[in-house]
This record gives sequence, C-alpha cells and structure tokens, in this order.
Amino acid sequence: MKKSKKKEKNSRSKRFKKPISRVRKACFFCTNDVSIDYKKPEFLRKYISDSGKILPRRTTNICAKHQRALTRAIKHARVMALLPFTRIY
Ligand SMILES: [Zn+2]
Repeated sequence: MKKSKKKEKNSRSKRFKKPISRVRKACFFCTNDVSIDYKKPEFLRKYISDSGKILPRRTTNICAKHQRALTRAIKHARVMALLPFTRIY
C-alpha cells in the first residue's frame, strides 16, 4: 500500500498560530435591553459589511438567538429597500 502524503490545506502552521480565546464577549442584545427592529436600518447597518453581507456571529459577538433575529430583521429590511442587498456603486 502506498502512503499518501496529503497536505492539509487548512491547517495553520505553528508560526502563525495565535491563541484562540475561549472567552466570548457577552451578547449586546442580552446585556442591553434593545429590541431588534427592521425599521431601524441605521442600527442594522452596523451588522452588515461594506459589501452588504451580514456579518458572522464570530465577528458580531451576538448569541445565536439574537443573531437569528438580527438576520431576519436585516433580510426584512432589504426587501423593504431600507438596506442594500449588495454594495452601492
Ligand atoms: Zn443575545
């Protein structure tokens, strides 16, 4: 049997490895009593990238429950033409 030398594409080399902190910042919506509303596009704009994409949970530090609600609000706002689907040129 031939041994295959497979290169792991996604493995981070030791040199560039930075410690992954297990402590997660508390969710903004859990700590503050702020409701997620699609009618507040200025507020929702904080959670979309420059290209109009919804930022991931690892970036926003929001809990799963509130990230889901936020995603729905952003998508709702997009359909109502309050937020862009893509970057505006
Ligand atoms: Zn939360």
